[in-house]
Amino acid sequence: MAEQKRDYYEVLGVEKNADDAAIKKAYRALAKKYHPDMNPGDGEAEKKFKEASEAYAVLSDADKRRQYDQFGHAAFDGAAGAGGFDFSGMDFGDIVGDIFGDLFGGGRSSRGSQYNGPMKGANIRTSIRISFEEAVFGCKKEIDLNVKENCKTCNGSGAKPGTSPETCSKCNGKGQWVFTQQSIFGSIRNVQVCPDCQGTGKVIKEKCADCRGTGYISMKKRYSVDIPAGIDNGQSIREPGLGEPGTGGGPRGDVLVEVIVGRHPIFQRQEFDIYSTVPVSFAVAALGGEILIETVDGKVIYDVKPGTQTDTRVRLRGKGVPSWRDKNVRGDHYVTLVVQVPDKLKPEAKELLRQFDELSGDTLKAVKAATESEQPSGETKEGAKESKKKKFWK
Ligand SMILES: [Zn+2]
Ligand SMILES: [Zn+2]
Repeated sequence: MAEQKRDYYEVLGVEKNADDAAIKKAYRALAKKYHPDMNPGDGEAEKKFKEASEAYAVLSDADKRRQYDQFGHAAFDGAAGAGGFDFSGMDFGDIVGDIFGDLFGGGRSSRGSQYNGPMKGANIRTSIRISFEEAVFGCKKEIDLNVKENCKTCNGSGAKPGTSPETCSKCNGKGQWVFTQQSIFGSIRNVQVCPDCQGTGKVIKEKCADCRGTGYISMKKRYSVDIPAGIDNGQSIREPGLGEPGTGGGPRGDVLVEVIVGRHPIFQRQEFDIYSTVPVSFAVAALGGEILIETVDGKVIYDVKPGTQTDTRVRLRGKGVPSWRDKNVRGDHYVTLVVQVPDKLKPEAKELLRQFDELSGDTLKAVKAATESEQPSGETKEGAKESKKKKFWK
């Protein structure tokens, strides 16, 4: 942990504002250069390859990139439950497959040697819908997953009870298949999962009827997921060890639960701040007074200053969303006060408003006063009268 991590942009050699294409291009070049297949036994190259792959994994994902831009490497420290992007469990093969699929014949090519050893199972991705408030304060949710469990009939071997799997003849039980391939880099000694036994080194002659030879039975299971306060739309929660079973004694994969946060009728969220608008009557705006403002903590009383203009923005400190990194740190709530112009006035109210206007600048009669005080020639006076009439009758 003491090792200082390099900046991801620096690793890929791109600008902070580089677009996806530039990032992909930069990674492609680095990955070609440092790919373990191109540098067999070169630990330094492998380190560089992993470093570049990690940088690419983050910067090519809009969500992770935003978090990285905001928090730096700290965004992925793991401990933080939500957003605990754990690179140790990341399958770089996927990313490489993505980019090199065409070069290496696709799939999980090339990094041989481990195929007979324990391999972590695949991750399961799922999503869950929660409300705005649930995202703000955190919640517990249940998810139903189709998970594979060891078949009890064959004890996971996949072979019909009473029989056992036999050594694969294509790979002699090694589980991998070595072949030479021509590519733009020259000839590559390629190691692939044995197609006959899928890397297990064994073939099943008589399959278990219950699991059809897979060794697993799929079943629905319900899990409870803790969703931390402050989680935002699109973020994922990692539940380690709930994914697909590993092979060769490897651990199960993880479950990644993407959180989809519903819209709120009043509140909008940006990072950890909340935004809303609140109507303020003309009288309160002019004279000052108390209003009730809805926040995620309930209603609060706010003292509007006399002479408040419409679209004035006020800040309710600490009434925003808690940070999922530290519950005690909360964003703010910004409220835009919108002054309401009264309509449907009672006759008395209209009269009082006319009186009010007389006392405060006579705006109702301002045009008349301005046009009558002019000293124009007869012609333009007619013109002025004409346009005044037009306005009136419109
Ligand atoms: Zn079975
Ligand atoms: Zn085989």
